[in-house]
Amino acid sequence: MRVLKFGGTSVGSVEMFYRVEQIVRSKAKEDRLILVISAMTGVTDTLEAIGRNARNGIDVLPAIHEIRNRHRKVIDGLFTNSERIATLHQQTDAICEELENIALGIKLTNEITPRIEARLLSNGEILSSQILAAYLQESGIETQWIDSRDYITTSGKYRGGHIVEEKTYQNLRSLLEIRDKTIVMPGFVARDVDGSMSVLGRGGSDYSAALVAAAVDAEFLEIWTDVSGVMTADPRHVSSAEPIAALTYDEAMELSHFGAKVIYPPTIRPVLRKSIPILIKNTFEPDAIGTLIAENVKGSDAPLRGISHIPDIALLTLFGPGMVGVPGTAMRLFKALYAGDVNVLFITQSSSEHSITVGVDKGAASTAASHINSEFLIEQRAGAINPVQVEEELSLVAAVGENMRHRPGIA
Ligand code: ADP
Ligand code: ASP
Ligand code: MG
Repeated sequence: MRVLKFGGTSVGSVEMFYRVEQIVRSKAKEDRLILVISAMTGVTDTLEAIGRNARNGIDVLPAIHEIRNRHRKVIDGLFTNSERIATLHQQTDAICEELENIALGIKLTNEITPRIEARLLSNGEILSSQILAAYLQESGIETQWIDSRDYITTSGKYRGGHIVEEKTYQNLRSLLEIRDKTIVMPGFVARDVDGSMSVLGRGGSDYSAALVAAAVDAEFLEIWTDVSGVMTADPRHVSSAEPIAALTYDEAMELSHFGAKVIYPPTIRPVLRKSIPILIKNTFEPDAIGTLIAENVKGSDAPLRGISHIPDIALLTLFGPGMVGVPGTAMRLFKALYAGDVNVLFITQSSSEHSITVGVDKGAASTAASHINSEFLIEQRAGAINPVQVEEELSLVAAVGENMRHRPGIA
């Protein structure tokens, strides 16, 4: 069994659907396949903008029409059977009508709750995966569309919540009962324990695919995208970046955590636990070898495997004489950040204990600062600790490679 995930550009046009069909056709001869599909490129961004604009009273009907037209155009380009076209148009129209209703609700209430937002965002993957399933079936590949929301359960948040693992894995294992058919599933989408729709966080289709691969003990998880593997640096910024042939799970985790968008960071853990190798492949260039991510891969002897970066970072520094030798300061700082639901990207502490610095996303900086300042208000009034210092307009750069260990001089 192989799990293949196709990203947004891989299903972005009629031409790309042809490519996907060819890849699937050749693989389906050798293996049972489960396909996990992203929304067409840009659609989730548009859905996010629809939510934001509806709340601000901006007309979102043109954006919904654009989504409708884009999918209809792909349907018209792919199919010749007029009944099939009519059915898919109906499915697309029904989803777009739902989008209009959600947008109206947001506009009237002047509010977008996380639950409504997840419901809005989940539609892109439903649209693209249904079209692909129908197209593969039409091309003679026996296909079954499966609604991932009935299989993947989350809790806590509607956007990027925790996976309820046991239930999710148990549900997904039942896919093994479907033999003789290629399964097509929407990525990204799930359902909360309360029955509402939820999504796995931006870029989350990779994670959906990893959960499926782990549940069915797949031989491989293949992530099909628009670059020929994980590259030595972000190709959008570094024109000389090259694909890396092999990476360990740890290296891949580091690179993705520090901004290599080609893999969504939570993707690695489910497959690592089962030692399932990941292959990153390019839908535009299927013959390129891509990147293998596995346990004990032998890469080059170069000290560095790659460099990644996260833009828009803010550094927050808590400092003052009243921190030295006082137990509990760090605990209170992190508790304050936790209370503000702030994700900490990295931490440093000066050896004198005089200061602690944390790096957070720029968008979270003011929430983080106000939570920290209110936690330490008494010490600040007494002059023992200074108001938290915030530095913005920074990027975090990470140099990654297992070979850096025990090699003096690299830093
Ligand atoms: P998909 O829609 O297939 O999931 P993404 O846009 O999420 O694709 O991820 C692929 C993109 O990640 C590439 O087009 C590239 O611009 C970007 N990227 C950033 N850093 C890296 C890197 N180190 N290696 C490869 N791609 C990277
Ligand atoms: N469509 C979702 C996003 O753009 C999920 C994904 O593509 O992985 O974030
Ligand atoms: Mg992605």
